[in-house]
Amino acid sequence: MNELLQFAEQIIESSDGIVEWHGEQRGFEALLSGEVQKGLGLPDSLVRISEPGQGEGISGDSETLTMGYGTELLDRFIPMALSMGCAAAVTMPSGASPKKTALDVGSRFAFTNSAYREKATHKSTLDYWLWSLEVTADADERRQLQYHTCISRHQVHCPALSEPISAQAAQWNPLNLKPSEVSPDELDRLFVTACHRTLGALEEGLSEFKTTISRHHLRDMERIETYFLDLREEMADEIERRKLTGSDLEVRREKMAQLSREKAAKISALKDKYRLRISLRPLTLLLARLPVIRCEVLVKRRKKERRISVIYNLLSKDFDPMACEACGRETYSLGFCDDALHLLCPACLASFTHQKTCPRCRGQKPPHTMQRVYKELGIQKGA
Ligand SMILES: [Zn+2]
Ligand SMILES: [Zn+2]
Repeated sequence: MNELLQFAEQIIESSDGIVEWHGEQRGFEALLSGEVQKGLGLPDSLVRISEPGQGEGISGDSETLTMGYGTELLDRFIPMALSMGCAAAVTMPSGASPKKTALDVGSRFAFTNSAYREKATHKSTLDYWLWSLEVTADADERRQLQYHTCISRHQVHCPALSEPISAQAAQWNPLNLKPSEVSPDELDRLFVTACHRTLGALEEGLSEFKTTISRHHLRDMERIETYFLDLREEMADEIERRKLTGSDLEVRREKMAQLSREKAAKISALKDKYRLRISLRPLTLLLARLPVIRCEVLVKRRKKERRISVIYNLLSKDFDPMACEACGRETYSLGFCDDALHLLCPACLASFTHQKTCPRCRGQKPPHTMQRVYKELGIQKGA
C-alpha cells in the first residue's frame, strides 16, 4: 500500500468523507466532504484516487486522479492537512535569553580541520516539524511502531525536541500559517527527511522482531531439510534393499531429482514469506515555531573561509546538530572540504581524506526522494 494514498485516505476520512479501497490497495474510490472537494478544486465529490500508473483502464462514472510525489494532488493535500485536525501549528513564546556561556559554540561543536571565529548572535525563531509516523513491518507476522520525528526547517533531525514539543505544545499559541510560509516542495523535502531518519532508527526498533522472524525462518528451513532428507533416504534404502536396476532404478532417480527441485522451490517460497516488508504512514503533523539564537560563525580552512550559522534552541537549551552536506546525517563534529568548504560529517570527512575528493564536490547529496531513501537504507518497501 502506498503511504501517500494512506495520507490522502486519512485526510478524507477525518473530514467525514468515505474511502473504499480497490482489491489490490493501489487506489480507492472516495466520497469527499464539501470542504475537501473545495480544497482540492474538484468538480465532483465522487473520485477515484490511484498510485501513478494505476489509473489507466479503469472505467466508471468518476474521475481518476493520480497521487504520487510531485503530483498536483499531493501539493493540494498538504496545505489541507495543515488546516485540518491531523495537522496543527503553534508558536512557543520566547523566554529569557540564555547566559552568554551557554552560547559557546566551541563547547558543543568540534571543528576538526578548520579554525573558527564566532561573529554575531541574534534572537530569532525557527520552524520545527514534528511528524508522527506509523511504521508497519510485515513478514510472517506484523509489527507496528509509532515514531515522533522532529525535523527543523534546515532539514536537521532534532530528536531531543520531539518529547518537549509534544508535552508543551498544547499550552503554546496557535499559529495561523499563511500559505506563502510553507511551500509544498519544502514540505515534500522535510517529509522525505523525516522518513529517512525514522526508517534509519528502525534497525533498533525492530531488532527483536527480526530475531523472531529469523528464528521462525530457521525452524521452517530445518523442517524442510528433514522432510526431504527422510524421503531421499527412504528411496536410497529401497534401491539398496531391492537391488533395483534398469528402468526401475531410472524411475527412482528421476523421482529423486524431482524432489530436489521441489525442495529448492519450497526454500525459495520461504524466503519470500520471511522477507521483511516495511511501510510508513504519516499520522499527524505539528509545526512548532520555536525561539532560537542564531550564531554566525566564520570558518577558515587553509586560505578559504565560509560563514555558517548554528542554531541554539531555547526549548532544548542546546545547539541543534548540523546536517552533513554530502549524506544529510546530523553531526556535532564538523569537517570541511578544501575547495568549497562543504560541511562534512566524520564518515564523509574520512572518505574525503581517503579519496582526496569531497563526496559533495563529486555530486553526492542527501537522498531527496523516497526511492533513494529506501535504496540507501536497503529497505524493501511493503506492498
Ligand atoms: Zn556525511
Ligand atoms: Zn566539497
